[in-house]
Amino acid sequence: MALGEFELIRRFFENPGEHSESTIIGIGDDCAVLQCPPGMELAVTVDTLVEGVHFLPDVDPESLGHKSLAVNLSDLAAMGAEPRWLTLALTLPTADENWLKAFARGFFALAKQYRVDLVGGDTTRGPLSVSVQAMGLIPAGQALKRSGAEMGDSIYISGVLGSAGLGLKVRLGESSVAAEDAIRRLEKPEPQVRLGQLIRGIASACIDISDGLAADLGHILSASGVGATLQYEKLPLTTEVLAWQEATGDLSLPLMAGDDYELCFTVPRNAESLLNLRLLEQGLKAYQIGRIDQEPGLRIYRHGQKVGLTSKGYQHF
Ligand code: ADP
Ligand code: MG
Repeated sequence: MALGEFELIRRFFENPGEHSESTIIGIGDDCAVLQCPPGMELAVTVDTLVEGVHFLPDVDPESLGHKSLAVNLSDLAAMGAEPRWLTLALTLPTADENWLKAFARGFFALAKQYRVDLVGGDTTRGPLSVSVQAMGLIPAGQALKRSGAEMGDSIYISGVLGSAGLGLKVRLGESSVAAEDAIRRLEKPEPQVRLGQLIRGIASACIDISDGLAADLGHILSASGVGATLQYEKLPLTTEVLAWQEATGDLSLPLMAGDDYELCFTVPRNAESLLNLRLLEQGLKAYQIGRIDQEPGLRIYRHGQKVGLTSKGYQHF
């Protein structure tokens, strides 16, 4: 690399912002040293984005910087965690300064928004891939899990579905409907960090939608040992997704397409008024789309008719 490894780390990734007091040692030593406050538990997640698998080779590096962090913050949100620290493992074919500058801009804009510290990482040469590890804090015993949904619970979704899937179709040249909003949602998803913390103590189960509603709600159902019935008409959809459905007759995007990074969670009936109060107080939204029932599996109705499901969302193997 023309730009040396250590120079690269210093220029683009070291201390661009202020660090919180709980970051005792950040970038520059052999390990980061972090302080977990008493009464809190540490939530840890890692996600890798690989060129050609998770993003197209011509992706805008600023969007990639945003998205590689957003998908991890979304996992923390799904557990009800408050994001605190990050590590970043970058594998780069070349040290292209313009590329790195744009990547860092997207990455740190989102990191700053949630006041998370980048405290370490790894930099190697090879085919482009980005791994971000995110760490967050949860009051002891309050993590939101996939298990815990019970018969009668309402199923909620935090926002629109199928838009990222439509954005991908546009990027791949498979759709000609106008879809600026869909592309923005595909490339710059907004993790539901505040909502995840708001539903702690209210939701009985929670997951973030990375592989499609059918697949991810399916994980809640199997972890909880229950089934569910959804009302398709209740799914929040953008006008762009509605236009796509109108043009193609394809109803599968909101159920099967991945990358939306909304939260799907279940709420016992007796906690729904508290949910609505908190949402109102915080200016956040969630949409009730169905109910947990006893019969295993997922049933979806649209205008009283059953909608067939053919595949199970995105799977790597
Ligand atoms: P070591 O050889 O001990 O693993 P490195 O030489 O790989 O350390 O990294 C030097 C320092 O820079 C470490 O603190 C490491 O965490 C940090 N670092 C390396 N790459 C990155 C990166 N892409 N982003 C943030 N910090 C990084
Ligand atoms: Mg070392």
